[in-house]
Amino acid sequence: MSSCFCKEGDTPIELSREPARSMESQASDPLVKSSDPRHPANLICSLCKLFYYNNWVTGTGGGISIKHPETGHIYIAPSGVQKEQLQPEHMFVMDRASGAYIRTPQLYKPSACTPLFLSCYSQRNAGAVIHTHSQHAVMCSLIFDKEFRIANIEQIKAIPSGKKDPLRGKDLNLSFFDTLVIPIIDNTAHEEDLTDGLQEALLAYPNATAVIVRRHGIYVWGPTVDKAKVFNEAIDYLMELACKMRQLGIPPDCGIGEESKFLR
Ligand SMILES: [Zn+2]
Repeated sequence: MSSCFCKEGDTPIELSREPARSMESQASDPLVKSSDPRHPANLICSLCKLFYYNNWVTGTGGGISIKHPETGHIYIAPSGVQKEQLQPEHMFVMDRASGAYIRTPQLYKPSACTPLFLSCYSQRNAGAVIHTHSQHAVMCSLIFDKEFRIANIEQIKAIPSGKKDPLRGKDLNLSFFDTLVIPIIDNTAHEEDLTDGLQEALLAYPNATAVIVRRHGIYVWGPTVDKAKVFNEAIDYLMELACKMRQLGIPPDCGIGEESKFLR
């Protein structure tokens, strides 16, 4: 299985040169052909384009997977493709129950992120998983040791706490006065070898909605693709802010009003 990032010497696949597809792949096109922009195959394309222009998935790095909310099928962007050029017909589709691919596009290789995406589906009942090579995640993985921590920032309120409202049963987000904690795991030579480390972090941090991979990027998931997108954006904002705070000498998890003690 190939990496989500091009291996040394790999040439990114020219998506416009896809040959005529086999009868088998044409027959399975209903899995990815839809006029609904909310269909997972279409959403992965639009989100990858958005993330590309946010500098999160450049150079073929990163990936996205979405679980179809009705069929439960898992949609995964292929490996080694230029994310801003993805098309719905480039998607891999997996049957959730059997773990078997029910659609395998010609030319493309499955994403090496696949076992990590599947871990988030099975251990967190995720509806979507986003993997970026965000520079803010990489910088935070160099600044922080085992955990990324930031507190008392308004944007933290966009992140789930893992707790539920005892009366309404609704998921509760962190409050302004809480501390966001995201585990950091060490990178491996091959993306798929991160699976054990990710699964251990999922067990050790049952309330986490993301895992940072040192010198690599971040995995973020949510119960729906919309929520995963919001969590990813909010966390990236907070990681960027934490880098700026540390540049000024301010610990990102310091108490309110304590900043002046640390300012250089
Ligand atoms: Zn990666």
